[in-house]
Amino acid sequence: MKVLVPVKRVVDYNVKVRPKSDGSDADLANLKMSINPFCEIAVEEAVRLKEQGIVSEIVAVSIGVQQAQEQLRTALALGADRAILIATDVAIEPLAIAKCLKAVCDNEKPDIVLLGKQAIDGDNNQTGQMLGALTGFPQATFASELTLSADGATVKREVDGGLQTLSLTLPAIVTTDLRLNEPRYASLPNIMKAKRKPLDSTTPEELGVDATPRTSLLNVRLPAERQAGIVVEDVSALVDKLKNEAKVIS
Ligand code: AMP
Repeated sequence: MKVLVPVKRVVDYNVKVRPKSDGSDADLANLKMSINPFCEIAVEEAVRLKEQGIVSEIVAVSIGVQQAQEQLRTALALGADRAILIATDVAIEPLAIAKCLKAVCDNEKPDIVLLGKQAIDGDNNQTGQMLGALTGFPQATFASELTLSADGATVKREVDGGLQTLSLTLPAIVTTDLRLNEPRYASLPNIMKAKRKPLDSTTPEELGVDATPRTSLLNVRLPAERQAGIVVEDVSALVDKLKNEAKVIS
């Protein structure tokens, strides 16, 4: 079985991002970039399925700037077999990303596409669902457990107040939630080996996808700063403040 794992290059989750001084966008200059954490979980799940002998090939794919090769090399070091970069300098939106992934699905014919549920930069939570609509493949989002066999996939999903179990025919789309697994670190020998694994490059245009953005970013700003809180002496002081200062009780 073949797994396709789309991985996104994002600002590392430890970095605190600030707006540019003119508020036109987030300031990403010289920041540490990483694989989106949910995509890392997707790579880990694919590698575990390969280790169990269920999956024979893992293909990682990223759409973005040339430097996204770094994240693809990380995916290769974690256990992907080969990678595809769909290179573009455009700030590409989920619909165009899903269209690129649909074109890759048409070429590669994966049995399952494992995406992150969400990219931590745009918080879109759209790409897997849009890819589901474009391909017509069944989809299970927010997976916390995945069982795969030649007959299909069984996915446990965390929903409000409990767990939902879905059965899907293949090919299928699954998006990963936090509790699916705990990703491993790439070992030094595997990082070295990853340098020799195949990494092909194409563009949205070559795949027949118009990547022109349909929305424009108007403004980015930090939330208003909150005032520091105070510690009150006792309950009656608290009630007095709620009544007379905050005026939220009478
Ligand atoms: P989003 O819909 O942007 O929140 O992203 C959800 C998932 O779609 C990510 O975790 C990735 O698996 C995939 N994805 C989004 N953007 C890209 C991209 N530029 N390249 C590869 N995969 C992507």
